[in-house]
Amino acid sequence: MVKKRKVPMRKCVVCQEAAEKKDLFRVVRSPEGEVSLDPTGKKNGRGAYLSKKESCVKKAKDKNLLSRHLGVAVPEEVFDQMITELGEQAHAAE
Ligand SMILES: [Zn+2]
Repeated sequence: MVKKRKVPMRKCVVCQEAAEKKDLFRVVRSPEGEVSLDPTGKKNGRGAYLSKKESCVKKAKDKNLLSRHLGVAVPEEVFDQMITELGEQAHAAE
């Protein structure tokens, strides 16, 4: 029998959909105020979660949702990084 482990769920700041951490991007603001993508989920700082969906990444960028959530401006590169990662995943699934 497979034991079900309780998985912590997080909410996307855009669509408010709850998902497992591994299915979300974590964008973190370090104590120094630097914003970066956190692929490990272990960086220190205030984090915001985003679905691994292009629509959510784009909406977050268009509406400045991440900046609002983190209280600092989010650099363009962070969004680019997420879009790139999504593109790579799409390829891997082909
Ligand atoms: Zn979402």
